[in-house]
Amino acid sequence: MVIQFNNSDEEREYHTCQSRREGDWIVFTCSQCNEYEQRINFKTQERISRPVDDPTIFHQGSFVPVGLESEQMHPN
Ligand SMILES: [Zn+2]
Repeated sequence: MVIQFNNSDEEREYHTCQSRREGDWIVFTCSQCNEYEQRINFKTQERISRPVDDPTIFHQGSFVPVGLESEQMHPN
């Protein structure tokens, strides 16, 4: 799963986020922006974002939910 938080623009600065899982939430943080945080609930798709002050910086991250695919599989 690749999540793009903003539209791509080659002239702008890109930061790659680190991701971690907290319960139903995937939390993205940026090592270069201490104030940045983006949370996505993978059950409700709810998003909570705490953007940085500089709007020219784009953030993107990817997260592979361990065990999530198997939970959604229903054999038979
Ligand atoms: Zn950043």
